[in-house]
Amino acid sequence: MIYPQPRLCSEPMIDLHTHSTASDGTLSPAQLARQAESIGLTAVALTDHDTTAGLAEFEQAARSLNVEAIAGVELACNWYSGSLHIVGLFIEPGNPVLEGMLETVRLNRQARNQTILEKLEAIGHPLTLDEVRAESGDGVIGRPHIAKALVSRGYCADISEAFDRLLTVGKPAYVRRFLPTCAEGIAAIHAAGGVAVWAHPVGFRQLPPGKVRQMARQLKGMALDGVEFYYSEYSPEQQMLVQNIGRELDLLASGGSDFHGDTIPTIQLGTGKGNLAVPDSILPQLRERAARIHAKISG
Ligand code: AMP
Ligand code: ZN
Ligand code: FE
Ligand code: FE
Repeated sequence: MIYPQPRLCSEPMIDLHTHSTASDGTLSPAQLARQAESIGLTAVALTDHDTTAGLAEFEQAARSLNVEAIAGVELACNWYSGSLHIVGLFIEPGNPVLEGMLETVRLNRQARNQTILEKLEAIGHPLTLDEVRAESGDGVIGRPHIAKALVSRGYCADISEAFDRLLTVGKPAYVRRFLPTCAEGIAAIHAAGGVAVWAHPVGFRQLPPGKVRQMARQLKGMALDGVEFYYSEYSPEQQMLVQNIGRELDLLASGGSDFHGDTIPTIQLGTGKGNLAVPDSILPQLRERAARIHAKISG
């Protein structure tokens, strides 16, 4: 398994984890492809949350650019009482299995958004769906947009306060959402011919290394293909942990910035917080795996 060290290589760079206006990013899919080219990336994957709606524009824009556009998606999946994220790369947009699952997730989100607004109203913070839509545009509405609307209305000073005081687990306007299981998420990505990668296995939550290893083993048992070895938020120790787990379990290396445009202004496309560098030497193995998955489903 190739695990080239970040920052030590002078080879071309890629970014396999980004978000556009189709979910909660602020660049349109076409702008994202153009920015990827302008900063010299050789390949970029669009991995919007729970939607493939940006992929047609993204791939179309990249046709006249000097950058490879990879069709992706980021799924949130249940993990016992919590959740984790699985990125699908080289997926076929329009695949009925994947799209059916995404549609169920989106329909549930709509019901959930309504319940969140009802709970906010009950504690004296009424918001209309239109106010939330003003923040989301045409993209999938989620808690970040409700948080922005709460800030715009002056209920909260900033997005962190909106989450910490109202929207996060245990707070008055928190509503759990329906998610597929990890096995279902991985299977849907495979059905669409894509490779399934465990996104940011460490970083957000400070899970003990033994727990991360155990989760990776279980996910591998569900046919997980890879893990994000490169990510904006890793410390050197976390990087080492993911590398060790990836090698132990023979998981392919993937990764990217998790760029969201102005939604997360500290993270830049390609370079993350300044020192991210995802080498394009990891691409052939991912592409080869995708080709094998594709051959299996069409054969
Ligand atoms: P949702 O998918 O609607 O449950 O929203 C999840 C998204 O909310 C995550 O992907 C983060 O971007 C964002 N988020 C979650 N917790 C926080 C937090 N404490 N502060 C800011 N953003 C958060
Ligand atoms: Zn996001
Ligand atoms: Fe994520
Ligand atoms: Fe992401």
